[in-house]
Amino acid sequence: MIGAVATPAGSADAGFRTVFGRDLVAELPNFVHRPYVVVTMADLWPGLEHHFDRHLAAVHEVTTIDVGALDESIGRLPDFGAVVGLGGGRAADVAKFFAWRRGRPLFQVPTSMTTNAAFAHRAALRHEGREVALAWAIPEAVYVDVDVIRGAPPPLNRSGVGDVLCHHTAHVDWKLARDAGREERRWPYDERLVAQAREQLDLVVAGLDDIHDITDAGIHLLMSAHRWGGAAFHDAGWNARHLDGVDHAFLYCLENQTGRSFIHGQAVGLGTYLGAVLQDNQPEVVLGWLHRAGVDIRPEAMGVDWEAAGTAMQRLAWYVRHADYPYTIADARPVTADVVDGIRDRITATFGAWPAEGPAAPRGGFV
Ligand SMILES: [Zn+2]
Repeated sequence: MIGAVATPAGSADAGFRTVFGRDLVAELPNFVHRPYVVVTMADLWPGLEHHFDRHLAAVHEVTTIDVGALDESIGRLPDFGAVVGLGGGRAADVAKFFAWRRGRPLFQVPTSMTTNAAFAHRAALRHEGREVALAWAIPEAVYVDVDVIRGAPPPLNRSGVGDVLCHHTAHVDWKLARDAGREERRWPYDERLVAQAREQLDLVVAGLDDIHDITDAGIHLLMSAHRWGGAAFHDAGWNARHLDGVDHAFLYCLENQTGRSFIHGQAVGLGTYLGAVLQDNQPEVVLGWLHRAGVDIRPEAMGVDWEAAGTAMQRLAWYVRHADYPYTIADARPVTADVVDGIRDRITATFGAWPAEGPAAPRGGFV
C-alpha cells in the first residue's frame, strides 16, 4: 500500500511546535525578529496594538485573500525580519503567504478556534476565482493564549469542532469511492489514516462540553485536534480523504449558491449532518454532537434561509461534478425535496424554530 509508506509511524503526534499559555501576545516583541510585520484584522488590531513596540515595521489588515492583490500588498511592504499572524484563519493564511514570499520566519497567534489554518503548511487563498492551497510556511511556533481565545465570540470558537466532526462523513465517503471504483490513484483507501482521524474525532467528542464552555481543557483539546489536522494533510501526501469530504463540498456549494461567505465550521457542520443523512451514517448522533457543542446549524444562524440552504443541498450533485471534487455520497445519492424536508424537521426539532427577529450571526476578524 502506498499509504502505508507515505505515513510514518507516530504521525499522530506530528504537528507544529505549539505553546499554550497566557500573556503570550505581550511577549512577542521581545523575541520576534526585528523589524516585524503583523498580519491581522481591522476589528482585532485596536485591542492588541498596545502589545507591540517601535520595531513594528507595518501592520497588514486583511481585506482580501486574492493572490494577485496580496502580491501587490507585499510589494508595498518595507523590509522585515519576521511575520506575526494574529487573528483567525484568514490572518494566518495571509501571514503564511507573506512569510513564504519574503523567506522570513513566521509566528502564528490564533485568536479563535474557528479553523486549523495556523497549524497547516499551505495557505487557503483565491486565485483567478478559484480556491487554491498555496505556499509553504512552518511557523517557529504557534502561540495559543487561552485568554485571547476566550475573547472571541463563543459561537465562533465552538464552530471549530466542525473541522473535526467532518472526519465522520469523510471516512464513509472515502470507502464509497473505493467501492465505486472512483478512488483517486494517488490516495487509495488507508485504514490506518482513517483510524488516526477517528481517534482525534473521539477525543473531541469526549470533550464537547468543555469545548462548549470554552474551558482551558476545551481549548487545549480542540486546538490539539486542529494541530493534528493541519499536519495530517501534509503527512498523508496532501491527501485530505481521511479529513473531509461531502461536508466541505456542501460549504463550497452553499457559497457558490449564495455568493456569500460563511463561518467555516458552522456551514461544514450542516454539511456533515447532510452527509450523514445521505450516508445513513448515524445522523442523529452527528446532530447531537453539534447541538452539544453549541454549533447552531440552522441556515438562519448563518444568515441565509431554508430556501437557499435547501437549494444548495439539491444542487450539490451537480456542483461537485462542476467543481470536479473527489467522489462522495453527493455523487451516489442525489438530494430530493423529501430529504431536505426531513433535514429541516430534525434540525428544527433539535435547535428550535428560528425566532422572527433572530440574533445577528457573529462575524469579523476572528474568522
Ligand atoms: Zn475545513
